[in-house]
Amino acid sequence: MGMTLAQKILKDHLVCGEMIPGQEIGIRIDQTLTQDATGTMAYLEFEAMGVPRVKTERSVAYIDHNTLQNGFENADDHRFIGSVCKKHGIYFSRPGNGICHQVHLERFGIPGKTLIGSDSHTPTGGGIGMIAIGAGGMDVAVAMGGGTYYITCPKIVKVELTGKLQPWVAAKDVILEVLRRLSVKGGVGKIIEYCGEGVKTLSVPERATITNMGAELGATTSIFPSDENTRAFLKAQQREEDYRPLAADPDAVYDEELVIDLSALVPLAACPHSPDNVKSLDEIGSMKIDQVCIGSCTNSSLLDMLKVAHILKGKTVHPDVSLSIAPGSKQVLNMLAENGALAVMIDAGARILESACGPCIGMGQSPNSGGISLRTFNRNFEGRSGTKDGQIYLVSPETAAASALTGVLTDPRTLGEMPEFALPDVFTVRDNMIVPPVPAEEMDSVEVLRGPNIKPFPVSEALPDSISAKCSLKVGDNITTDHIMPAGAKILPLRSNIPKISEYCFAVCDESFHDRALELKQSIIVGGSNYGQGSSREHAALAPLYLGVKAVIVKSFARIHMANLVNAGILPMTFADEKDYDRIDQMDELSMENLIQQLKDGDTVTVTNRTKGFRFDVNVSLSDRQKDMLIAGGLLNYTRNNA
Ligand code: SF4
Repeated sequence: MGMTLAQKILKDHLVCGEMIPGQEIGIRIDQTLTQDATGTMAYLEFEAMGVPRVKTERSVAYIDHNTLQNGFENADDHRFIGSVCKKHGIYFSRPGNGICHQVHLERFGIPGKTLIGSDSHTPTGGGIGMIAIGAGGMDVAVAMGGGTYYITCPKIVKVELTGKLQPWVAAKDVILEVLRRLSVKGGVGKIIEYCGEGVKTLSVPERATITNMGAELGATTSIFPSDENTRAFLKAQQREEDYRPLAADPDAVYDEELVIDLSALVPLAACPHSPDNVKSLDEIGSMKIDQVCIGSCTNSSLLDMLKVAHILKGKTVHPDVSLSIAPGSKQVLNMLAENGALAVMIDAGARILESACGPCIGMGQSPNSGGISLRTFNRNFEGRSGTKDGQIYLVSPETAAASALTGVLTDPRTLGEMPEFALPDVFTVRDNMIVPPVPAEEMDSVEVLRGPNIKPFPVSEALPDSISAKCSLKVGDNITTDHIMPAGAKILPLRSNIPKISEYCFAVCDESFHDRALELKQSIIVGGSNYGQGSSREHAALAPLYLGVKAVIVKSFARIHMANLVNAGILPMTFADEKDYDRIDQMDELSMENLIQQLKDGDTVTVTNRTKGFRFDVNVSLSDRQKDMLIAGGLLNYTRNNA
């Protein structure tokens, strides 16, 4: 039986497990990327592992999210990341060099390789034939340290593209059509694999627009074959040697199939407030607009920008519209400057922003209250723009530019004949904003620059054979990660400062918890059902780790938080008999003996409540791998021990 392209690459990188959908597999990771908002913690975690140099083929750190530098914190983070990279073998893409996914595609992506990135739009790399997956910061740290990356083996969905896009209909309209059909949940547990004759009509940047928004389908990743268009892109980037042809076998068997006739597509828009709330421009009708933002990792390639410049040439942005344009990388911006397209945009009245995420991550350009904003981005959740009642529509660059001129939602097909837009044979390649690491033998000479906001990752020790600790906190049902570790503008800049951020740990439930836990030095938390529901925020495990929490005993856990506790080396335990929850009070002394042997022997551990004088059983329902991780004192120690 033939294999799909995704299966071939996964199999090439398989370390353990069987490739059966739904089962856990471990894969080897060739490349990693981080962005600054998640990168600081990933590098603190990498440092904590004690592995001197990255073991991946290529790891790159990008600065693209927090570029406003309203206080010292972001600038300190950037300096920290830059110096860690230099020392430990990681390439550093400086602020101003561009958005991580755009730059990675241009300068680092290689067909057939695996990439994980601490950013959800890492699947953009599927446009060049990679298995590229968004992951947590700790996963990336572990991969850099040579550790295996574990995923649930996905199902493979075949999307067959037939025909050819009509003039002024764009790659963005392709992925909006997929979202319209499959919804934001349609890709969960799946890889979306594109094939068919229509693939040949799409360039690598267009394919990357499509794989980028596979993240909005909830998919593990999306992938295109690597073909002559891929070769042409790599050749233009002066790295043709990275090309290799890749495709599914003709008799590959897929779990699901979908056919999209490119010729039949029309310009589409995702209406507020979900990327799958897709309608045709005709259905939406004439609508006055206030703002247009062109850019983001979805639509900021040279090809996108050249189309926008063509539409704007010799015209003026409508007086009621604010148009901002953020080219995706220094390379793109440079080439626009060289060929005059930048002057065209400026002349038309566009506000040119730096090559970074900018408005996409709420860093400026919030629309006016109740304002209607057309954006070429990938997400339009309520409030993400920074204006609570802003109405965000996701559209192609062609629709965005055409509308910026008229002040109303405008079908770009009304622009008349479309010229042939082609990528240049050679891009302007100058990697002077990508700082390479020093050679391994010089790493000791590099000082890691830690501003006052950069604090070391909390120490996690191997699991002791016995634990005797007080219950520092007893909470009820449905405790969320927001209760454990709140987010928000005040707290977010503290993400690289675990001692400081932990002052907010459980503060909404009990303001005295932080001081009490620190005074006890080690303690146990007791909770009710569905503990840790909400987000995948790893700080909700790292702050308790810093505060000396050794175990969390609850009625039930939310799955992702439980995994985060294991990664941090904190024992996640559930009551064998839920009634025992009622027999424990805050500050009771709880103890466990022969812990390691009990964990190795089975899934039950006996706990003694020394204050009240009774014993009860708790369950530790984990895989052998997770138990080994706990015994090692968490994922980082486990990886260091096994690297
Ligand atoms: Fe995330 Fe937007 Fe930046 Fe893309 S441009 S990486 S979606 S913040």
